[in-house]
Amino acid sequence: MHCIYTGAALYKYIRVRGALKKYRVIVDREKCIACGVAWITCGDVFEAGEDNGKNRVREEYEVEHSERVSVGIIPEDLYDCARSAAESCPVQAITVEPLEE
Ligand code: SF4
Repeated sequence: MHCIYTGAALYKYIRVRGALKKYRVIVDREKCIACGVAWITCGDVFEAGEDNGKNRVREEYEVEHSERVSVGIIPEDLYDCARSAAESCPVQAITVEPLEE
């Protein structure tokens, strides 16, 4: 039996099936109280910012950064990690949402 998907066709098939899904992570740094739960719970995605000690998305995933907000794009395999940090945040400063392409 031959595989009908090769090269670009296979990549497109995987994308359409959602296998390469990505997520947007938004940290409201004005709400953040720098309690540390975010990077203790999910150090693969979050870290303390050197600018003000508040949570930020790690540099390798971050696409926007200021004292007010940190936005990142993460792969699907980090979703559960980021989601658990968002659920543990005492001030609901973290949002994780599917990235629409
Ligand atoms: S859990 Fe919330 S308040 Fe605590 S460091 Fe992370 S974003 Fe800030």
